[in-house]
Amino acid sequence: MSRGLSATQVTSENYASDLFRCEEQFFLAMRGTNDGLWDWNLETDDVYYSPRWKGILGLDEEELEHNVNAWKRLILPDDMDRVFERIQSCLARGVDTFDVEMRMYHKNGNPIFVISRVFLVVRNADNQVVRLVGTLCDITECRKVAEFSEKNAQVLEMIAIGRSASEIYEAIALMYEGRHPGLRCSMLELHGNKLLHGGAPSLPKEYCEALHGLENGPSVGSCGTSAYTGKRVIVEDIDTDPKWEKIKHLALPHGMRSCWSEPIKNSSGKVLGAFGMYYNHPAVPNEEESKDLTSAARLASIVMERDQAQKRIRTLAYTDELTDLPSRAHFHQHLEKVIKLSRRYNRRFGLLYVDLDNFKAVNDSLGHDAGDLLLKEIGVRLKRACREIDFVARLSGDEFCITAEEIEGYFTTKIAQRCLDAISQPIELFGRKVTPACSVGIAHFPEDGEDFSSLLKAADISLYAAKDNGKNQYAFFKPELTLKVERRFQVEQYLREAIEKQQLTLVYQPQINVSTGEIVGVEALSRWHHSILGNVSPVDFIPTAERIGMIKPLTEWVLFTACRQAVSWKKQGFHNLRMGVNISPSHFLDEALVPLIVRTVSETGIAPGELELEVTESAIQTDQRNISVFKALKNLGINLTIDDFGSGYSSFASLKHLNVDGLKIDKYFVDEMIADKKALLLISSMIEMGHKLGYDITVEGVETAEQLKTLRSLSCINVQGYFFSKPVNANEISALLRCGTG
Ligand code: C2E
Ligand code: CA
Ligand code: CA
Repeated sequence: MSRGLSATQVTSENYASDLFRCEEQFFLAMRGTNDGLWDWNLETDDVYYSPRWKGILGLDEEELEHNVNAWKRLILPDDMDRVFERIQSCLARGVDTFDVEMRMYHKNGNPIFVISRVFLVVRNADNQVVRLVGTLCDITECRKVAEFSEKNAQVLEMIAIGRSASEIYEAIALMYEGRHPGLRCSMLELHGNKLLHGGAPSLPKEYCEALHGLENGPSVGSCGTSAYTGKRVIVEDIDTDPKWEKIKHLALPHGMRSCWSEPIKNSSGKVLGAFGMYYNHPAVPNEEESKDLTSAARLASIVMERDQAQKRIRTLAYTDELTDLPSRAHFHQHLEKVIKLSRRYNRRFGLLYVDLDNFKAVNDSLGHDAGDLLLKEIGVRLKRACREIDFVARLSGDEFCITAEEIEGYFTTKIAQRCLDAISQPIELFGRKVTPACSVGIAHFPEDGEDFSSLLKAADISLYAAKDNGKNQYAFFKPELTLKVERRFQVEQYLREAIEKQQLTLVYQPQINVSTGEIVGVEALSRWHHSILGNVSPVDFIPTAERIGMIKPLTEWVLFTACRQAVSWKKQGFHNLRMGVNISPSHFLDEALVPLIVRTVSETGIAPGELELEVTESAIQTDQRNISVFKALKNLGINLTIDDFGSGYSSFASLKHLNVDGLKIDKYFVDEMIADKKALLLISSMIEMGHKLGYDITVEGVETAEQLKTLRSLSCINVQGYFFSKPVNANEISALLRCGTG
């Protein structure tokens, strides 16, 4: 074939002999090769396919029609146009020998790679080619080898340029899967004694998830066993092999039937994981598959070993060795991230800078080992003092930083206080008792700094403020804030103590029936006098008690004290006196309220009808839970009154289904009604409407005779206000009851 066959000019005289000569040359040239042959008459499109040609494609001799369409049907659609374009262009250019590569379907359904060498053998009188002959050769194996080595080179490149382990695992799996149709590969990493998913792009996700976290052992599938024994494990049939007994239910539903596994080991022979090969039919590896299993595991081991080394380096760089807390580098990265997210979602967060007080003294007097021990312990204590979501890091020496997200108001104060408390616990260092202390600087994003460096600077400045103020305390970036928050914190502490020790007192304000002038009831109001703070108004301390979760014990104390007082007045002969007690809206919805009232009634002996609970309008908003509380209290025979009526959003309509006994009309209307006609109109309609609906009406905040006169003309029944009496202590009420309010 070295000289090739040149297309011959066909004339009527020499056609037959030329044809004969060409063919003879061609077949001579082909003798001894293992290629298939074909012969295509371009005028009729008849094609002769030799038995070997058919054999390459898995066809029998009598299969396949002898025309060009039969061939076309076997070419992969993706290759079709390219193949015929090439033939056309070679014919047009008069190239008389050329090669075409294509993929064709084997009878078994799999595509194979073939190459065809084409010879132009006969032209007609018009110099047009009328006959082509050619060979067909199966080059699948060569292509596979070429493709494999190309992929292999790609994988090595991925390793070299540092692509992620999971990406490379996928590439490795796909590379071996490409070589063996039907094969599916998996790589598992061994962490401790657990197998974690590495990569398996062709296995079902569900299966990979089920295996993730599996413990290795002497009989845990193929991979669990090979990772345990460090030896290759060949399982021909998952269904019957005892090693798969416990986990075959994970594999069989996905069709997997055989699984071979090779341990993945690092350069010193330590098992890092396992490489698994699966087929959907029972099988043992042939020689090629067996070699591939070895080489695949070796390739995976390069990736795994490198990945683990990198992870170790990263951990070292990101963790402070002494305390095990995140390092400065890690903290910087974290802070950047938190700033970015907080900016995007418009959130606040706090940054706490913690610095030990007089740490140098410990180091100097007790030595560095003692200093290290102390720092370690501080790390533990800080972590314990913070919430799970707070990020605690050691910056350097005795400096720590905390980022606190999800903070409401000045919750950072609470964290800072907890850190101060935790750190100031005594510790024994080599037999010497030391009581450490620290100072904390607090800055908030975004108000104290909107970027990394300004925020850190703000926290640092706050820290110095805390040190300047005398150490062992926290400070805010804005000094006035420090004062404000400190005072607030102080007040909270004092209030908690006062409530716990029952240091509050009660005063009572009478309610008078305007037509009879008699005292029909009193409202109990809390008073707090503190030795340092002086008198604190309930307008301030009631919300504080709610905030610090002390409203329940406070109310419990008010209820018991007020009801005992009511019973005592009754014993003194003052009957039909109602005792009004304020209940905070938040407490009203608490499921413990009804049992508390039951207890109050039974322990104090007050008649339920003499107790009146005042709740503001916000408690009667549509919350479904209200209805059942109202019902339960009603069943006990307790009176319910809506306080500050008219100042909020409720309407008569919203009261309809709540079974309320009375309304206390807000002081605002009384204040305005003399000067403002509209206010007068409003209050008169409220009273009229309320009466018609059967509510007991009390008007609050009556201060002048003129106001009283107006209210009388509106046929208001009860009034409460300074005009009759300010809230006074129980003895004064007794005196009033004895001689009337005049
Ligand atoms: P409130 O329930 O509306 O109580 C009426 C408030 O108006 C009382 O203020 C009372 O002293 C004041 N007042 C009564 N008549 C007049 C008047 O003629 N003129 C003026 N200017 N004021 C008058 P106080 O005692 O300062 O209580 C303020 C608020 O604190 C109360 O408003 C109530 O919401 C709350 N509070 C007081 N004690 C308690 C308590 O034990 N528990 C709960 N949950 N809240 C309480
Ligand atoms: Ca009230
Ligand atoms: Ca009120």
